[in-house]
Amino acid sequence: MSGAETAPAGPRLVLATRNQGKLSELRELLRGRIPGLDVDTQVIDAEAAGAPDVVEDGVTFEENALKKARAVAAHTGLVALADDSGLAVEVLGGAPGIFSARWAGRHGDDEANLRLLLDQLADVGPEHRQASFVCAAAMVTPVGEEIVETGYLTGALLTEPHGDGGFGYDPILRPHGRAESVAELSAAEKNAISHRGMAFRQLLPELVRVLGAGITQSGAAAPDGGR
Ligand code: IMP
Repeated sequence: MSGAETAPAGPRLVLATRNQGKLSELRELLRGRIPGLDVDTQVIDAEAAGAPDVVEDGVTFEENALKKARAVAAHTGLVALADDSGLAVEVLGGAPGIFSARWAGRHGDDEANLRLLLDQLADVGPEHRQASFVCAAAMVTPVGEEIVETGYLTGALLTEPHGDGGFGYDPILRPHGRAESVAELSAAEKNAISHRGMAFRQLLPELVRVLGAGITQSGAAAPDGGR
């Protein structure tokens, strides 16, 4: 029985995040890319999986992404994908970096984070406003295989927010070569050039291999493709 021919039973992949902005981007990045994987029924998120919150105490994007994916793979017995991402501002030496989600103090307050950053850069001229979104994407299997890939989206920081798409710092980054902020791009346009798109596209061949082999908790390839 090939996975491409039949509708699947249970979840096979878990996205180790509760961030709704990331979740919708990740689902679209995976849609139609993995033979036999139905993104709507076989891909669940950390909340649906009942996975515990993970303390992000690593000091690099890669460490934190691996930590999240490891915890969720161990909890669910499924292949887990996680990302750790943020904005690295050149003139701030790479900050907010791994602290992007809590730059203004409270985790996940996108508006406060963005406003604080704009205030901090109020006197910085256009020639010094280069910044990059960075994403480390990790895949961890229940048998302990681990892979991490990193992607970047570089541009210039605006002085005021523009657009209402995306999430986080999207309204204040204008990618090089574009006239709009990331928040003014469609979801498909953002995924095509984004740090998250780049990182997860690099992971895809490994994900196809692992899910195609039906890796299970015992480490054996399941005869029905892991379902
Ligand atoms: P994480 O959930 O710990 O990886 O933190 C990610 C934080 O980085 C988010 O809360 C945003 O502030 C920022 N960030 C990551 N990716 C993006 C993006 O694609 N657009 C805008 N902000 C992002």
